[in-house]
Amino acid sequence: MHCINCQSKNLGKIAPDHYYCWNCFIELRKKHDIFHIDEVDLDGSLLSLDDLFTEAERRVQ
Ligand SMILES: [Zn+2]
Repeated sequence: MHCINCQSKNLGKIAPDHYYCWNCFIELRKKHDIFHIDEVDLDGSLLSLDDLFTEAERRVQ
């Protein structure tokens, strides 16, 4: 698999169905075959980036 945002394959696995992109610093969570994308803010809170992508783009292939 690769990062939906930057297409990098430099992904680390945080937990089952939960990945971190070391290239663009976002988290990818897989739920019901759809990825949910979160940016980690400086204070550690998560900002959802789901709105930036269509559901088709986020679908697990
Ligand atoms: Zn990325």
